[in-house]
Amino acid sequence: MNASPIRILIHGASGRMGQALLRLAAEQAGHCQVVAAVTRRTPSPRVVDGVPHFAASELAGVPAFDVAIDFSLPDGFDRILALCVERGAALVSGTTGMADAQAGALAQAAKSIPLVWASNFSLGVAVLADLVERAAAALPGWDVDVVESHHVHKKDAPSGTALTLGGAAGSAGAPVHYASLRAGDIVGEHTVQFTGLGERVELVHRATHRDVFARGALHVARQLAGRPAGSYRVRDLLA
Ligand code: NAD
Repeated sequence: MNASPIRILIHGASGRMGQALLRLAAEQAGHCQVVAAVTRRTPSPRVVDGVPHFAASELAGVPAFDVAIDFSLPDGFDRILALCVERGAALVSGTTGMADAQAGALAQAAKSIPLVWASNFSLGVAVLADLVERAAAALPGWDVDVVESHHVHKKDAPSGTALTLGGAAGSAGAPVHYASLRAGDIVGEHTVQFTGLGERVELVHRATHRDVFARGALHVARQLAGRPAGSYRVRDLLA
């Protein structure tokens, strides 16, 4: 962990995640300092709670930073990735829906900067993925099912997190089946079920507040700053 506060750029600052990141970063002032908040449109006012705000078109002029945290949309991603590479800064991104070419650019960038892209920044889900991988290796031949529940507004199914957990479960070779529920205001629940003859193991994670993703991204940013170039997973940076 870094001794002095790391300098953070938040990309997508006016969004739901961006606002949560600004609020939670302010509570961790001893560990991190937001030096730039970037939004798609020209911001007004220009400074909020001491944090300078910039439009995406002004990215080239942002002050020096150690880590960019990006929760924006795919059409803004290329520019923040390019800026991180140009400045030699780390990147933490949770932006979803990227094109294959953008995933390729991310892999290329990992040769020169440390970065994390994850479909879920909950630290609990990172631990769950690790447990699932271990259970799958220890229970060959068992049926594997991933059941996920989310609020009614979520469009994609299965969730990106379910697919990540399925990937971890399937690493031992077992076929993985998925089931998705959409109901009420559920923030996110994932159950990975291993079924053998006469017994069943269930590994469950329940998110009850969206802040878990912003809190996890800030944790990852603090752990990532100053590391060698490479593509890291959230679970590589838990400690
Ligand atoms: P949102 O719609 O509330 O906010 C999007 C933000 O991106 C806004 O600030 C907008 O100004 C900015 N933006 C859009 N286009 C831009 C561009 N071209 N350049 C710069 N900024 C741009 O969305 P949200 O709920 O905050 O989610 C943001 C992203 O994070 C989405 O892709 C979402 O799927 C993802 N997400 C990931 C996780 C995770 O844990 N990985 C969790 C929640 C959300």
